[in-house]
Amino acid sequence: MLISTLSEIIKSCRKSNFIGRSREYGSHLGGTLPEALQQFKHSLRWPIDLDTPNIHLAGYFNEPDYNDPDKNSRHRGLDLQVAAGTKVVSPIRGKAVFHQTDPRTADLMNVGVYSEKLGLLCILAHLDTSGILLPESYPVLRWENQDQVYRDMVVGRVAPWISRLPEQIAVPKDVRKVYGRTYNHLHLECYYIPNKPRTVNEYYQKRAPLNPLLLLRKL
Ligand SMILES: [Zn+2]
Repeated sequence: MLISTLSEIIKSCRKSNFIGRSREYGSHLGGTLPEALQQFKHSLRWPIDLDTPNIHLAGYFNEPDYNDPDKNSRHRGLDLQVAAGTKVVSPIRGKAVFHQTDPRTADLMNVGVYSEKLGLLCILAHLDTSGILLPESYPVLRWENQDQVYRDMVVGRVAPWISRLPEQIAVPKDVRKVYGRTYNHLHLECYYIPNKPRTVNEYYQKRAPLNPLLLLRKL
């Protein structure tokens, strides 16, 4: 009894660093995974250390963009709002198949990690361009010389986001207290690609994104 009570307390302490919209987590576990990925449901590591202070699961999959709700498209990934500079690790082991600057600004870098074993591509977006993984090669694609991404390897850091959140966005009070209207965040996208593409462009072919929360370990 005592042990179970203690473990409950430890659990709730661990979660106390999740703020704002993170409380909606349980209602954003919808969607499906392809048959081949079912066995990996809720098994992947989170790209941010879960002990990081003030993690805000701000933007969920397939809803209007949190920071741009007027945009006429659904959010293709998961936004984890954290402090700029927070270390990012890949949820999967694999190869860094592309890394490039964001089309909006050269100050942001996106890294694609592909696991041939899982047939899974994870895109870690909005990283600092002083990336740890590929500093010397950025921003040139280095397709022929893909870097291996190991377990626990830091692939980059969350970059300072390019703009403040517009006034129309109702930022939860506890989030506002910590981050104001800044929006430094990691954007994670996951795609099922069973056959390893031969060219970088093939990774970009129209594909249906997966809900990352179905793959990441359950909170
Ligand atoms: Zn996003």
